[in-house]
Amino acid sequence: MASETFHGSCLCTSITFDLTGLPEKVFACYCKDCSKNAGGAYQICAKYDRSQVTIRDPDNKQATWIITKTLSGHDKHKIFCSQCGCTMWTIPMNHGGEKMIVRTSLVDEG
Ligand SMILES: [Zn+2]
Ligand SMILES: [Zn+2]
Repeated sequence: MASETFHGSCLCTSITFDLTGLPEKVFACYCKDCSKNAGGAYQICAKYDRSQVTIRDPDNKQATWIITKTLSGHDKHKIFCSQCGCTMWTIPMNHGGEKMIVRTSLVDEG
């Protein structure tokens, strides 16, 4: 597999990121958090290893909302832009914080 790089950003582009390589998996998540967040029945999510994600946040706009009521019983850290309120990704603590669930709707191309 050739390593592809995807670029994305939040709505106000304060936070930009690169995704290197292919995600471990892509799935539609129907959980309550995702449907609320997406404003629809589900959200398309891609699971990446933390090492595959390069984040640029020069103005320190990243903020964290910790979800403690999860199906797995492990906390989820939802990272969002404190300027535009756009959700960037979720870090489930049941993988030791090494996996990132990225919202594919933020990716600019593809
Ligand atoms: Zn933003
Ligand atoms: Zn979900």
